[in-house]
Amino acid sequence: MSVVNLGLIEYIDAESRGRPGQRTFNITARSGRGQAIVWMEKEQLFQVGASLKQFLTTRESTADPVPFELDAEASDYLIEVEFKTPQMTLRHDPASDVFTLSAEDYGDEGSEEPEQVVEFSFPRSEAERLADTSLQVVASGRPPCPLCTGPITPGEEHFCVKVNGHTEVGPFNLGRQPADG
Ligand SMILES: [Zn+2]
Repeated sequence: MSVVNLGLIEYIDAESRGRPGQRTFNITARSGRGQAIVWMEKEQLFQVGASLKQFLTTRESTADPVPFELDAEASDYLIEVEFKTPQMTLRHDPASDVFTLSAEDYGDEGSEEPEQVVEFSFPRSEAERLADTSLQVVASGRPPCPLCTGPITPGEEHFCVKVNGHTEVGPFNLGRQPADG
């Protein structure tokens, strides 16, 4: 297993692609060493945002941070990776006040061990921005059904499990009363 390390990023963002209900999610990170696009499930992106928020609240910012030390040599080639990850880890270095996200890549063959681990690091200011963006991207999806809390896709019938899946519920004007009772 190899470790691909982008080092301190210059650009990082979270986004979703696709129509409501069929959205896919990724985090894109870019540095002088190259670029990584890490695809994930919505729950994972939510977890990234929530974990960052928790770190940011529980870890005081460092008054006099030391420069971030990268323990990996730069490669001779420009990094260009894109994969879907089943497993991510977030850590925070208190000395430099830098956050590092690592994502495991199991390749296309579905191997038992990760083929590579891709890591990238970012300062507190970027962590705050990424946390907000991640949670916003997750939340900008479909509204929940008031009965079963399952997602409602605009323009499509919702078969509600709370009413045995047989009855169509809605459409809902969320936060508004029906005009004629
Ligand atoms: Zn429902």
